[in-house]
Amino acid sequence: MRVVVIGGGIVGAAAAYYLTGRGASVTVVDGGYQGEATQAGAGIVCPWVDHPEDDDWYRLNREGARAYPGLVEELGEDFGYAKVGALLVSEDPAELEPVRSLLQRRYADAPEMGEVVDVAAPAELFPPLSDTLSALLVPGAARVDGRSVRGALLNAAVARGARIHAGAATLTPDGEVRVHAAAGTPAEAGRTWTPGGGPGQARSEETGSWRQAAPRGPAAAQGPEATPGPQSGNGSEAVRPVAAGAGRVFADEGVPVEADAVIVAGGAWTGEVCRPLGAELPVFPRRGQILHATLEGVDTAWWPIVLPSDGPYLLGFPGSRVVIGATVEDVGFAPRVTMGGLEEVLQAGLRVAPGLAGATMAETRVGLRPVYAPGRALIGPLNSRVVVATGLSAYGLTAGPYAGRLAAALALGETPPIDLTPYAPCP
Ligand SMILES: Cc1cc2nc3c(=O)[nH]c(=O)nc-3n(C[C@H](O)[C@H](O)[C@H](O)COP(=O)(O)OP(=O)(O)OC[C@H]3O[C@@H](n4cnc5c(N)ncnc54)[C@H](O)[C@@H]3O)c2cc1C
Repeated sequence: MRVVVIGGGIVGAAAAYYLTGRGASVTVVDGGYQGEATQAGAGIVCPWVDHPEDDDWYRLNREGARAYPGLVEELGEDFGYAKVGALLVSEDPAELEPVRSLLQRRYADAPEMGEVVDVAAPAELFPPLSDTLSALLVPGAARVDGRSVRGALLNAAVARGARIHAGAATLTPDGEVRVHAAAGTPAEAGRTWTPGGGPGQARSEETGSWRQAAPRGPAAAQGPEATPGPQSGNGSEAVRPVAAGAGRVFADEGVPVEADAVIVAGGAWTGEVCRPLGAELPVFPRRGQILHATLEGVDTAWWPIVLPSDGPYLLGFPGSRVVIGATVEDVGFAPRVTMGGLEEVLQAGLRVAPGLAGATMAETRVGLRPVYAPGRALIGPLNSRVVVATGLSAYGLTAGPYAGRLAAALALGETPPIDLTPYAPCP
């Protein structure tokens, strides 16, 4: 069976890996779009603390986290995965109680989180931390390097015969794939989606979550940075369509690529890719700006992840590296690092970890998290030959490899390992 995968982020790379594992002939097409989320992602794998009111969202992320150790073994490659644990920290110990109860409730079905314990002096585990914090440790939490996972999956797929095409893919109304050499230019009249009706609604899918419940900082603008186009609705909808760099115009007609099935794993661009099929998928970009700092001579490789309830997270990597992130901004397709974004991350990061003041600023990254407006991930068939897999939002490095596996099963006509009804495209 010939399958074209549109998008070579973590989801597309995983789909290619699992498809080739089942003997399919696979072509991955990636446009190398600026703002791809996978290259910017922090790498936290700790699903048990989030989505207390959405069991389906939680289940997908839990299964994704659970699948990682097996994937590490299968690929036999070091892609930065390590169970370093996560410290849930707060200035107010009472704030830790709801998440403690949530973890207790979920433990029976997810013993891999490990037994949660109180930590009296969190700075002993993550030395730059403020000494005024209380903490719970979730020992089973892991960190992973998203770029390396994607690379390892693609390499393994190529070793099994997959071809990688650099170029932008478009679909015809009947689902044929065409590949254009250049990324094209944004169409003025294209449509993308952005939240409407205020911040509360815009981020409703994250309500009650520990990690994602951060208030909006000064960097979080309330609309697209590009010129808005005509809006529909009265502002009380969860999302509204606007013109903000969506849709693309190509100088060439594109080269057709034969396929029996297509998987669209185009991240935040998935809506634009699927539009010719007559599907208006409300997938929109949620920008995240993130910092990498180094602490020369300090071994940060086994520091735990730090997750405050209302601020930036921190995590260590080998190479004396500490990652601090991230902004949560609904500003359309604008993958830029901004002064305000950096200020927000720096200020909040130093409040939680003042010991980082002397660290060296090594790098800034920015990515567009793909968000599906109805709330959770979007994985399902759009018609008899096109499957879509996106909307993993802030959890794509956790659930991305698993989502790719599910999409591969659908494309091959196999029964996926979990019921995908909750993630099907909304009519
Ligand atoms: C700052 C930040 C921090 C994050 N931290 C975490 C974290 O700690 N833990 C976690 O689990 N998740 C995290 N995430 C979320 C995670 O990174 C994303 O959910 C995930 O990477 C999405 O993967 P994807 O493959 O769906 O999309 P992407 O990685 O965006 O890939 C989509 C790809 O499709 C390609 N594409 C699009 N349209 C076309 C086309 N027409 N033709 C060809 N190619 C096309 C693009 O070039 C792109 O490479 C974070 C994200 C950000 C931005």
